[in-house]
Amino acid sequence: MISTDLPISLSRLHFPVTALGPGRRVGIWFQGCSIRCPGCISADTWAAIKPSSTVGGVLAAIRPWLATADGITISGGEPFDQAGALEVLLRGLRAESAGDILVFSGYPLEALHAHLSRMRGLIDAIVSDPFERTATQSLRLRGSDNQRLTFLTSLGRHRFAAYQTSRDNSDRHLDVAFDEAGTVWFAGIPDRDDFARLNAWLTTQGHCVATSEDKSCR
Ligand code: SF4
Repeated sequence: MISTDLPISLSRLHFPVTALGPGRRVGIWFQGCSIRCPGCISADTWAAIKPSSTVGGVLAAIRPWLATADGITISGGEPFDQAGALEVLLRGLRAESAGDILVFSGYPLEALHAHLSRMRGLIDAIVSDPFERTATQSLRLRGSDNQRLTFLTSLGRHRFAAYQTSRDNSDRHLDVAFDEAGTVWFAGIPDRDDFARLNAWLTTQGHCVATSEDKSCR
């Protein structure tokens, strides 16, 4: 039996997430990313901070959501930068949920081979490869077209085959959430420059807008 006492560093948990895969999903964002793609919209998740929870603590926190969730999306940050904790978390999720599991990674699929062999059967579908801001963006679930959606189980193929296609209007939505500190954050794959347009519009309305990396409003 694997201990769930393993420390894990997370950015946030959220339910329901509807913009990162089919149905109402539990969203788990890892904290810390060593890849650091230029133009990444999640730069607030780059810093590798001291773990504040354990895998068991995370499972306990999301347990009430798992009963009604259609699936789980794990993103970041870079989940495979904490591969040990990721594996234990996946084993716990598999044991407690019949939903599909989608993982986003900025590593090329080939670089994940050893991890994915060890985690065989635990991930249903993966979106791999780094974000490239000069690449076109036309594919569902992807911020740039160099990124690949790969099915790793039959459940993954069943749930995500419809995402192996071009983006359409149904992809043009984001989940919006407010945390206890009043910070607004978004889940989903925005169109290129969506945030710049939102920023420009809010500024014309007299608001000051800053991301967690840009402290210009303080
Ligand atoms: S791998 Fe993901 S979180 Fe990391 S820099 Fe690239 S896009 Fe951002």
